[in-house]
Amino acid sequence: MDTIELLDQLVAFKTVSKDSNLPLVDFAESFLRERGFICRRVLDPTGLKANLIASIGPGGADGIILSAHTDVVPVAGQAWSGNPFRLRRDGDRLYGRGTADMKGFVAAALRIADRASRLALGRSLHIALSHDEEIGCVGVRSLLSDLKDRRFSAALCIVGEPTSMRIGIGHKGKLAARATCWGRGGHSSIAPLLMNAIHLATDVTSVIRRQQSDIGNNGLRDEAYDVPYTTIHAGKIVGGTALNVVPDVATVDFEIRHLAEDDPTILLERLQSQTEALLAPHRMLFPEAAIGIEVLNAYPAFAVSPTARAVTTIKAWLPEAGTTKVSFGTEAGLYVATLGIPTVVIGPGSMDQGHTPDEFVDVAQLHACDAFLDRMLVSLGRRLRRPA
Ligand SMILES: [Zn+2]
Repeated sequence: MDTIELLDQLVAFKTVSKDSNLPLVDFAESFLRERGFICRRVLDPTGLKANLIASIGPGGADGIILSAHTDVVPVAGQAWSGNPFRLRRDGDRLYGRGTADMKGFVAAALRIADRASRLALGRSLHIALSHDEEIGCVGVRSLLSDLKDRRFSAALCIVGEPTSMRIGIGHKGKLAARATCWGRGGHSSIAPLLMNAIHLATDVTSVIRRQQSDIGNNGLRDEAYDVPYTTIHAGKIVGGTALNVVPDVATVDFEIRHLAEDDPTILLERLQSQTEALLAPHRMLFPEAAIGIEVLNAYPAFAVSPTARAVTTIKAWLPEAGTTKVSFGTEAGLYVATLGIPTVVIGPGSMDQGHTPDEFVDVAQLHACDAFLDRMLVSLGRRLRRPA
């Protein structure tokens, strides 16, 4: 079975993050079990979604993980030329939701799993499939803590997010947070005697904007990124019920996308103290006024040295591939942080097409990924020589 045939089947599973991914996991698990893989599921609390880890080979800590997420972003509101959940080939392009992000890599991983099952492996091959990546790398965490509990380790993890088959050696981390502003509500005719929570919320966004300009002018820089510094922005403000009512509560949702060298908790503490300062002049009159910041979701930045063994290993299989730092987040930082496994990001297709209507992957990208994994498989065929 080739990668395109497998991709055709995978695209047909409607694994939008809000829905169950179990039909896809059932398919992948039976595919892998039939080929001798030992499979283990880690379910989410609802039981409607699962992570899957599947292994073949002699065991030990010197195997390789091929890691992918099974979920895709929604298609609602997007203008597709055809059914997004039916793979459509037009020339050299394969269209369908998830073709780039990242069922193309899942298909390539299943193809190489089939090939691996017909060899006597010197080192193990692991396939790790997660759920709910697209909503903030949520699902993989339970898989990683399960693996940690079982003292699982590996020599290398390949996260196959679309990098156009370049070697991804870094991405920014992300922290999403909510500032809730409490004021004093009442009739708008006496507005100046009250504390308008929407006004507080706009003060918070001013603090956020000042932070961004300070970071842009004085912060750390990494010119490998299009925006070479840590960013912070407000993406959503909610507050108020009617024009003639002064609102007593409003929220500002904001996110920090940070360089690996920047600690987002320090940024958050600075924000908290600057927002506290906003309230200081009003303490006497409005003791109930407050601004509370809560973290909604976070995943770590990912950074690996271009000279690290994980990168030179990949380069040996793909000498023509350069390195890149990607603008999107992945599960890579969590593999490093939770399991300490050397990790790189490399996969077929481009995130320029990820999440868009008429998402596609080039056939040539899938072939390049197949060739890359074929070379990886050769290296699994031989056991590493033990150090003397
Ligand atoms: Zn992805």
